[in-house]
Amino acid sequence: MREIVFTDLDGTLLDPFTYSYKQAASAIALLQQRGIPLIFCSAKTRAEQELYRQELRISDPFIVENGGAIFIPKDYFPFPFDYHKAAGGYLVIELGIPYQEIRSILKRVEEQSRLGIRGFGDMSAEEVADVSGLDVASARRAKEREYDETLRLEGSKEDVQRILHLIEDKGLNWAHGGKYYDVMGGNDKGKATSILVELFTRKLGRLKTIAIGDSLNDLPMLSVVDVPVLVQKPGGCWENIDLPGLYRVEGVGPQGWKTAIGEVLAVSSRLVHYPISEERKDSNNYPSNKYP
Ligand SMILES: [Mg+2]
Repeated sequence: MREIVFTDLDGTLLDPFTYSYKQAASAIALLQQRGIPLIFCSAKTRAEQELYRQELRISDPFIVENGGAIFIPKDYFPFPFDYHKAAGGYLVIELGIPYQEIRSILKRVEEQSRLGIRGFGDMSAEEVADVSGLDVASARRAKEREYDETLRLEGSKEDVQRILHLIEDKGLNWAHGGKYYDVMGGNDKGKATSILVELFTRKLGRLKTIAIGDSLNDLPMLSVVDVPVLVQKPGGCWENIDLPGLYRVEGVGPQGWKTAIGEVLAVSSRLVHYPISEERKDSNNYPSNKYP
C-alpha cells in the first residue's frame, strides 16, 4: 500500500506566526526519500504555494484556495483525465467560481448588511502584510487570488453571524481557518482531496491517505482520508473537531507535523514487515497505539 500525504499550510506545516517550515524540514526530507507524494491543500494562492514548492523541491500536484482548484504538473499522471484548462505547465481542475464573481457577491452582502466587510481585495499589499504578519512580497502573492476571498471579520459575534448567513443565502460557502474567513463558490478542501485520491489510486493502486491540519477549514479534507491528523494550535490546544478516528498529535504547527509523519511512517513500515493482527494491535508490541 502506498502512502500519500495531504497537508494544510498555515498553522500546520508552517508556523502560525513565522510561517517557517523549518521544524518539519527533516520530516519532509523523509517523505521525499521514500517517494511519498506531499500534496499542499491550503487557502493559500497558487503564487504563494509555488514559492514553497520551489524551496522544498516538491513537484506533486497542489490544491489552492480552499479547494478552489487543483494544479497538476503536466505529465504527472500517465493517463488522460478531465481538466478545465492548461496554464503555466499545469493541467488545472477548477472547482470554485472566479474570484471577481465572489467579490461582487460580497459587495452585495456588504450593502445589504450595512456592515463593513474587508477582504484581501480591498486591502493594499502593505495592509495585508500588516494584518497577516507576512512580508510585503508574500502579501502580494496572497492577494493574487483566483477562487476565494479572504476576509477579516471583526464585529460582534452577532454581526459576524449575520454576514455569514447572508453569504450562505447568496449561494456561497465559507470556512474559518483561524485568523480569517474564506469565502468560496461551492468548493472545499475535501472535494479537491477526493479527486486527487482517485487519480492517485489509478496511478499507484491501493493507497493509505494521510491528511494533516489544524483548523475547522481542514475538516472536509480530514473527513475523506484514512488517517486524519490534527496538530496543536498556539497554546497547545487542538481545534474542537469531532471526527471518528481523528489523531491529535502533540506539537504546535510544524513541530506536530514532524511528529505525525514520524509516527505514521514508523507504523507503516512496521506493518509492511510484520502484519499485525487486531489482537496484537492493542498490545504494547505495537510501535504506537495512536495509528491504525
Ligand atoms: Mg491552517
